[in-house]
Amino acid sequence: MSKSLIITVRINEYMSRALNPHVPFTPDEIAETAAECRAAGASIIHFHARTPDGGKCHAPEVYAEIVAKIRDRTDILIDSTLGQITVKEDENRLAHVKLMAQKSRTRPDFAAVDTGSSNIDAYDAAQKKFLTTDKVYLNSTETCLFLARGMTEAGVKPHLSVWAVPFVRMVDAFLDMGAITEPAYVQCVLAEGGIVGAHPCTPRGLEALIDFLPPQRRIEWTVACKEGNLFNVATTALERGGHLAPGIGDYPYPELGCPTNAQLVRRCAELGRAMGREPATTDEARRMLGIAGH
Ligand code: ZN
Repeated sequence: MSKSLIITVRINEYMSRALNPHVPFTPDEIAETAAECRAAGASIIHFHARTPDGGKCHAPEVYAEIVAKIRDRTDILIDSTLGQITVKEDENRLAHVKLMAQKSRTRPDFAAVDTGSSNIDAYDAAQKKFLTTDKVYLNSTETCLFLARGMTEAGVKPHLSVWAVPFVRMVDAFLDMGAITEPAYVQCVLAEGGIVGAHPCTPRGLEALIDFLPPQRRIEWTVACKEGNLFNVATTALERGGHLAPGIGDYPYPELGCPTNAQLVRRCAELGRAMGREPATTDEARRMLGIAGH
């Protein structure tokens, strides 16, 4: 029997409702989305806290409220964010994870560590210029180790986002030094929309990353695409034993009529079933990723 398919739904990031009206903002909207996506076949939800009008929210207590509300509704596993573009705010990046982890009920199952740095300015080919020129997603080795160790101490498993081959090599080094444990949970982040700081969302772009995953390590990997259609690589990922991380937080999917998150999850689940990969239950996902229950 083929390996089950872990679907991680990336529900909101900082996506605008002007591009897709179904982006959830409030804790109640996020919890509702979580329940719908679990029913559609997702076993993990990745979310960002937002203000009621859609702005960025970094308040640790809002993160804890969201986790509690999701857990009231569904058994879906929870993958929290750290927030982007930071300059040496290590403690702040972990403050909300630490607060959530104080109670097992609000402790997220995963939080993100990006194992390298990248320029994430978007290039506009029509205007022949970059829309910004100073957006560095900065993650020093020290920061990555601080985050990975802090999460592990708090009982939260790092999900390791890799944007390019050097990020993959860093995962191997962290495993080698024992800063993270196997099975490692790796998320390949591809990017379109002019973001040249990651691999393109093509089969070759994905394969270039996964070809460098160390074969002697136990690794489960998934794939997400910023600003592009994940279905361009979904079949390749399924064939190569990977998992899928769709979501309207990454891309509004205008070519699919601006669907809901649950509709995207259902589409991934159907594709998986058609290729012999049944959507994983939360218990299966826990076992495959080596995390304990609550
Ligand atoms: Zn995120």
